Amino acid sequence: MAPSRVAIVTGAARGIGAAIAKRLAQDGFAVGVLDLVEDNCKDTVAAIQGAGGKALALGADVSNAEQVTAAVGKAADELGPPTVLVNNAGILRDNLIFKMTEDDWDLVLNVHLRGAFLMTREVQKYQTEQGFGRIVNLSSTSALGNRGQVNYSAAKAGMQGFTKTLAIELGKFGITANAIAPGFIETDMTAATAARMNVDFEQFKEGAAAAIPVRRVGQPEDVAAVASFLASEESGFVSGQVIYVAGGPQD
Ligand code: NAP
Repeated sequence: MAPSRVAIVTGAARGIGAAIAKRLAQDGFAVGVLDLVEDNCKDTVAAIQGAGGKALALGADVSNAEQVTAAVGKAADELGPPTVLVNNAGILRDNLIFKMTEDDWDLVLNVHLRGAFLMTREVQKYQTEQGFGRIVNLSSTSALGNRGQVNYSAAKAGMQGFTKTLAIELGKFGITANAIAPGFIETDMTAATAARMNVDFEQFKEGAAAAIPVRRVGQPEDVAAVASFLASEESGFVSGQVIYVAGGPQD
């Protein structure tokens, strides 16, 4: 039997997650559009439905086990067993280490790492039953180190180890796990970084683009195109990889 074509994308109310959700819907997946507040998912859901696709809004904090179980169960009941999971939900709480609070450390590690762990533990039940699955985790070039981001860079490096281990453990069930590590992508997250640094966003983007080999910043659709491939059946021999989507090579 062909595997069920149901995907869940976390942090899909906006930015990269919204672009991935829309792209997977175009690819023929019914998409669970998950974000912290269910109502915030309505634009992404409306865009998918307006284009003739199928989508369901799901409200959950990915770092809360009960909410994750409820949201994944709802997606399975209403859309069918999820076979594709994109762990995209993320936040920034940047600061130099001497000013970083324990709360900001815990929050960032919890949303990215605990969130990806809880979501994956729930969704792999359906994937193993189906004998097919695709897990795509959002890492970042910050995994290689970035001033002011000890919490975020530790979380994003952690996502890479998490991904490789999932690939090793779940491969025999027809499940692949890969990470996408974007560089500068134009979203609310990078706009907020510019605002925090008191830099005009247009200037911030120009400065970033000058240092990128392809001479432009990335768009959410650049990431969605790679997620589309990694979610597809034809990517089945690619697993445990980290794909940098950054307009040039990374160290
Ligand atoms: P974004 O525009 O800030 O969107 C992130 C989404 O995640 C928001 O809708 C946010 O909801 C949601 N979210 C936050 N905490 C959550 C939680 N606990 N449970 C469920 N949803 C939660 O960010 P983005 O730029 O699209 O980034 C998406 C992913 O790519 C993140 O993992 C980020 O670290 C990664 N990334 C981004 C860039 C970049 O340049 N933009 C580069 C590398 C990696 P709220 O609005 O309610 O907070």
